[in-house]
Amino acid sequence: MARPAGAEREPRTLSILGSTGSVGRNTVELAEANRERYRVLALTAHSNAALLAQQARRLRPELAVVADPEAWGELRAALAGTPVRAAAGPEALVEAAALPAEWVMAAIVGAAGLRPTLEAVRRGATVALANKECLVCAGDIVMAEAAQSGATVLPVDSEHNAIFQVFDFDRPERIEKIVLTASGGPFRERPLDAMADATPAEAVAHPTWSMGAKISVDSATMMNKGLEIIEARRLFPIDADRIEVLVHPQSVVHGLVAYCDGSTLAQFGPPDMRTPIAFCLAWPDRLPLALPRLDLAALGALTFEAPDPGRFPALRLAREALARGGRATAALNAANEIAVRGFLRGDIGFLDIVPVVEHTVASVSSGPAASLDCAMESDRQARDIARARVAAARGGPRRAPRPRTERRWKPSSE
Ligand code: NAD
Ligand code: MG
Repeated sequence: MARPAGAEREPRTLSILGSTGSVGRNTVELAEANRERYRVLALTAHSNAALLAQQARRLRPELAVVADPEAWGELRAALAGTPVRAAAGPEALVEAAALPAEWVMAAIVGAAGLRPTLEAVRRGATVALANKECLVCAGDIVMAEAAQSGATVLPVDSEHNAIFQVFDFDRPERIEKIVLTASGGPFRERPLDAMADATPAEAVAHPTWSMGAKISVDSATMMNKGLEIIEARRLFPIDADRIEVLVHPQSVVHGLVAYCDGSTLAQFGPPDMRTPIAFCLAWPDRLPLALPRLDLAALGALTFEAPDPGRFPALRLAREALARGGRATAALNAANEIAVRGFLRGDIGFLDIVPVVEHTVASVSSGPAASLDCAMESDRQARDIARARVAAARGGPRRAPRPRTERRWKPSSE
């Protein structure tokens, strides 16, 4: 969206979708610490009205939205006496995205973020996109809408942010491959049979990154990297067979681009989401951040290894879905959301997650998702199939005894 001439020093207007989550809270902190640069128009959350109201009292947006209508009364009461309007429900989320903020941080988790993100894209905003699931569910549609409206999509996901920084968009034909790095997650070295016992608490205890519960489980199954292969295919003009994954446990090199002359360019940074978030908020400028700097001498060695397809079949599954088209990737994402929720609730075991997704993807039709309705139809079908599969697993014998998962897991952010 063009900035009027002479307005260079005006604060950039910003809406933060998913402001109570891990990425959202970091974004709120950056906006607060840089009030001369950012004026917040809207904040949204799922149901954490208390935190949303605290954020809104500090940042004074025009609008604060909870997706869950049951949280509306609490939000309204907590914002009484402020000029901030409180609203609730899915339409209000879209309304928040429609306010004329120049920049939108799309940090809702899951396909629930698709409609608000699309709204921001359609009106030509610069969208800092953390919500990778919306690209897996309907990425072709999101990117086609961006091309039409002139919206800029800036990847927040650290690997894609890294690649964005070193990708020569003017000469994509000179690029041989891109590499997404993966930490390997908490079970990188755990034998397959021992993974059957993995508890939600173990699965969300990520070795290098602090993130929301869903993406942490995705990292443990490596479905996160599968989703990221699909995300990369949507964001960058490069074929799927030239998108590689390397396990890099130190999480310091986030992404690499290999060129036809043998040069490989990489982006290094601490495993801290504030760096890619700040990149996307300040782009094309850079925001000074007082974070600990990388100390490569102290790190000493950086290691890279190929992922183990036997223990992490999610990578293969994601590539197969990508080859089958947008309907299959929408189904992959939806089934994964249901399976991860089932695991976090203690309904299925860790090793049940990927088979639930595989069964679901195999049950839906192939082909491109030509429209949003088509992608949403595949998403709906997949959720039904996956829910039935989770319910069947819950009713049947457990794959493995899991004595430590009797308690239901409660994610920390919401
Ligand atoms: P999180 O669970 O911490 O936060 C999610 C946010 O979305 C919260 O504000 C929550 O209230 C909101 N939300 C959840 N369900 C909703 C619904 N149905 N409707 C409306 N709002 C809803 O998640 P996170 O870790 O911050 O991740 C957010 C997104 O960013 C995800 O797509 C994730 O894959 C991506 N991402 C996160 C990280 C990270 O470090 N956390 C890194 C890369 C990418
Ligand atoms: Mg990532």
